[in-house]
Amino acid sequence: MNFDVIIIGAGPGGIYCAYELIRTAPQLKVALFEAGHPLAARHCPIDGVKVKTCVGCKTCSIMSGFGGAGAFSDGKYNITNDFGGTLYQYIGKQQALDLMRYVDEINLRHGGEGTKLYSTAGTQFKKRCIQNDLRLLDASVRHLGTDINYIVLQNLYAELQGKVSFFFDSPVESVEEIDDGFAVQSGETSYTCKNCVISVGRSGSRWMETVCHQLGIPTHSNRVDIGVRVELPAEVFSDLTDELYESKIVYRTSKYEDLVRTFCMNPRGAVVNENTNGIITVNGHSYEDPAKQTANTNFALLVAKHFSEPFRDSNGYGESIARLSNMLGGGVILQRFGDLIRGQRSTQKRIDESFVTPTLNATPGDLSLVLPKRILDGIIEMIYALDKIAPGTANDDTLLYGVEVKFYNMEVEVDENLTAGREGLYVIGDGSGITHSLSHASASGVYVARKIAGC
Ligand SMILES: Cc1cc2nc3c(=O)[nH]c(=O)nc-3n(C[C@H](O)[C@H](O)[C@H](O)COP(=O)(O)OP(=O)(O)OC[C@H]3O[C@@H](n4cnc5c(N)ncnc54)[C@H](O)[C@@H]3O)c2cc1C
Repeated sequence: MNFDVIIIGAGPGGIYCAYELIRTAPQLKVALFEAGHPLAARHCPIDGVKVKTCVGCKTCSIMSGFGGAGAFSDGKYNITNDFGGTLYQYIGKQQALDLMRYVDEINLRHGGEGTKLYSTAGTQFKKRCIQNDLRLLDASVRHLGTDINYIVLQNLYAELQGKVSFFFDSPVESVEEIDDGFAVQSGETSYTCKNCVISVGRSGSRWMETVCHQLGIPTHSNRVDIGVRVELPAEVFSDLTDELYESKIVYRTSKYEDLVRTFCMNPRGAVVNENTNGIITVNGHSYEDPAKQTANTNFALLVAKHFSEPFRDSNGYGESIARLSNMLGGGVILQRFGDLIRGQRSTQKRIDESFVTPTLNATPGDLSLVLPKRILDGIIEMIYALDKIAPGTANDDTLLYGVEVKFYNMEVEVDENLTAGREGLYVIGDGSGITHSLSHASASGVYVARKIAGC
């Protein structure tokens, strides 16, 4: 019951922390607590036939379990400080990039060899974007694909087994400060440790808030990104996706000067439901295996909403909008771009007659009843801007799924060691509010492991 290190959460942050600990300090007794199931037991009941929409499982297998929210993700590891988090503000730009490259090497050694690394360096699209009021962000991206990402996780688990004590289906209820470290309560049992690494991701954001409140750790929350997932024939974006795979493009709207950006691009991928604290939003992924690919490409268009004092509940604002779509559509709402522009709701008949076949079974409806006008105006403006570099984007049959919400966990106040107010208590990954991606979350895990190991 007594460990040198307890890690809470087996997402990328927790996994790479454990991996680096057993590599650099094998003498340490390390435990990993995870609210969800082991990787092999993670199954979402939605099969598209018998179960078509989210049934609200006790623990969501998409978001929880070994591999965290990243387990069935597209496995896009972006190596950049331009997006994906602000880890570099704490540990420096060079170190952040070095750690992301280190994680990439681990992935390659554990099943990812042979996967492609795309880069924006020297691309002609930079010029085309600038000429059309768009900005292409710099990045290298390793695309593992959902299938290879899963294999990498299987191999990492095999390597950690026997060296790390795993506790699955074991949500941690509380973390208390004791004389020589921390007491971690899960179920009936209290476990103690000298170092506690909290890496609970987005699904643990509510719990993280409670812990911060109980331990008096200051937090800040002022941002949420709201938008839609766009789905169109893969050919429309193929010039971009063939060369760059994922392109992060930013547009400043002429009407409000808001920033709208593309996010999580999935060439020949599928749109999926995402369940965050019981609210159904939309996301997407794609496979490396050509046999599993679809005829469509999907990506999110998000508008960043920053709030100032006295309003502090930016996630609550995003949740309310997502709830509205759930109320009207029983889940995610789907609308053709042409219907949106004409001010009419999409119907099943119009969707069936469309030239683009949706990859997610969502309720045809009217997104203008859900999204605030300012956000919707920004999305429409950007679709027309993208149409100039990828003609066909503003086609009537382009599908829009809503809503996609990118919740930013409140930012936990941590120092340059990623410790939160007391020695030995580390907060990493998306749960810290500092990272928002696989690569940054993983890098933060390696960073903290090295701090604990003293290297
Ligand atoms: C469908 C989908 C696709 C995505 N695609 C990409 C992509 O291609 N590229 C990219 O960079 N990012 C992607 N992301 C985001 C990425 O998955 C996250 O940024 C990343 O997983 C964050 O890692 P993490 O370890 O911080 O948190 P998570 O992966 O969320 O892991 C946290 C873990 O902590 C557990 N936990 C929570 N509370 C507790 C508790 N109290 N006790 C015990 N355990 C707890 C959870 O069950 C979870 O397993 C995607 C996300 C989704 C949902």
